[in-house]
Amino acid sequence: TGPTIVAGEILVEIMATDRGMGFLEPLTLVGPYPSGAPAIFIDQVGRLGGGAGLIGCVGRDDFGTINLERLKRDGVDVSAVDVSDRYPTGSAFVRYRPDGIRDFVYNIAESAAGQIRLTAAARLLADRAGHLHVMGSTLSVAGLKEIVAYALKAVRARGGSTSFDPNMRKELIGGADGALFSTLVDDADLLLPSGDELLAAAGVDDEQQAVTALFARGVGEIVLKRGADGSSWFGADGTRIDCAGFQVEEVDPTGAGDCFGAAYLTCRRKGMEPGKALFYANAAGARNVTRRGPMEGTAGFDVLDDFIAGTARTT
Ligand code: ADP
Repeated sequence: TGPTIVAGEILVEIMATDRGMGFLEPLTLVGPYPSGAPAIFIDQVGRLGGGAGLIGCVGRDDFGTINLERLKRDGVDVSAVDVSDRYPTGSAFVRYRPDGIRDFVYNIAESAAGQIRLTAAARLLADRAGHLHVMGSTLSVAGLKEIVAYALKAVRARGGSTSFDPNMRKELIGGADGALFSTLVDDADLLLPSGDELLAAAGVDDEQQAVTALFARGVGEIVLKRGADGSSWFGADGTRIDCAGFQVEEVDPTGAGDCFGAAYLTCRRKGMEPGKALFYANAAGARNVTRRGPMEGTAGFDVLDDFIAGTARTT
């Protein structure tokens, strides 16, 4: 029992309306959209009716307000989101190239997102959490390592569970953060890699070998994200379930992996079997890419059931 919690950056995203290369001429832009991978993840947990809490920091400005209002509306506890008077909410400008690759201009390092700290409110939230989700991409932020270490201990002390999305830059895996990365992998009740991250987390170059090696290290279950091709589930007893993707028109792929992971985890925490949870996760990821704006495609079960009923599968 207790909410699922995550810590990390809260941003707004501002998108070019057309596809093309970079930002070197005046463009038509749309936004701001609430964003930041941890914020998207926890919003999706909240939409599915799972208890949800976020540790983060926004500026005292409209970009912070649209995030806080959206998260609250969707059922996320934002009592551990700090509000900075000094730093603005971070932003990311994005433009898709014709082939789907993204060009970004970030304003994050000197934003409120970099001011995230283990505050009293963050401790209170961690102390009553039932599940901690950690994103590898956030671990290079100084304050976050302290939060993750504290929350990991607190959640474990209460008999809670953890999940890890090892979306971490390769050069960091073997570096100073290598020990923390390894601990998070070994401790994960649920590991949520996408594509090559599975191989990188295990340090081998064959999918089945990677799965076997990770279970030997103590991982509970593994769900591998395969983009438009869907996903696979691996159990510690050697069983495996493959789930085909849904056929959709990809408008904006940002946030698909976060929605997918949040849906899988929330379904499992609600007691669903892995196969059913995987099916909902595929639907949540696929539906998210059909909406412009990273958090605009998060969905409740009613919306996902309608999407599933009306969408063909890939084979
Ligand atoms: P990440 O964003 O972490 O790299 P993926 O791109 O693999 O993760 O997306 C996560 C999940 O979302 C996929 O496993 C799939 O279920 C769904 N998904 C992502 N892109 C598409 C797409 N173009 N069509 C259908 N489903 C998609």
